Amino acid sequence: MRLLLFGPPASGKGTHGDRLSESLRIPEISTGNILRAQVSLRTPLGLQAGRLMERGELVPDQLMVDIIEERLRRPDCHRGFLLDGFPRTVAQAIALDRLLQAMGVRFDRILYLAVPEEELVRRISARLTCSVCGRSYAFDHTQPRPDHCEDDGGLLLVRDDDRPETARRRILVYIENTFPVLDHYRAQGLVSEIDGRGPIEVVAKRILAVLGHDLPAPDLKATERFTPGAGETPAGAGRQ
Ligand code: ADP
Repeated sequence: MRLLLFGPPASGKGTHGDRLSESLRIPEISTGNILRAQVSLRTPLGLQAGRLMERGELVPDQLMVDIIEERLRRPDCHRGFLLDGFPRTVAQAIALDRLLQAMGVRFDRILYLAVPEEELVRRISARLTCSVCGRSYAFDHTQPRPDHCEDDGGLLLVRDDDRPETARRRILVYIENTFPVLDHYRAQGLVSEIDGRGPIEVVAKRILAVLGHDLPAPDLKATERFTPGAGETPAGAGRQ
């Protein structure tokens, strides 16, 4: 199955991407995570991308297209993949259409996680991210702030680009550059809009309901095993 998880910053793409990737057994390809890994390794790409990311700007299209092409051609993508954070511009979407066509594959579905802007701002201002694995935690300002990741004990920090100025810029860039990508896929009849508000488990159920119609039989079994409420992720925790 080939999926694209589309939505604004903090709409829940990371959280639901992790879960879907596990239940469908397909790799999750997050361009944000790929870039952050390059930033921490201080590679030439990381240095260039880091300067743009810390201002909430986009990394140039051609760089991103090259990264995605190299990643999608790896053997673990033969059974399918889930993209998160790419394409982010119409030019990236057009380049991706060409690449998928050359590979002889197409998307099964674009899952659009719709969340209103005021909710995004609220989520970003209450988000801590594990400095080791990138998992994010929603915290309530009235409760003691969590310090360490439950998975690996990593220190929980405010992601650099979650600081208010940069977060606002990211949302603006999303509205201007990324939102139009949705029309590109709507024209192909591929978009399913999912209400991204509410508890993680509730949103997960909505996603599975949409995919239920599209899942081939073997993957459906894997999805059924992935029953929401199984308690893998404590309420309020997850990656966005
Ligand atoms: P979010 O979805 O929460 O904004 P991501 O982790 O997906 O965050 O991306 C973080 C940053 O990485 C973006 O603000 C942008 O600077 C850069 N980035 C990620 N994917 C792309 C892309 N496809 N094109 C250009 N820049 C990107």
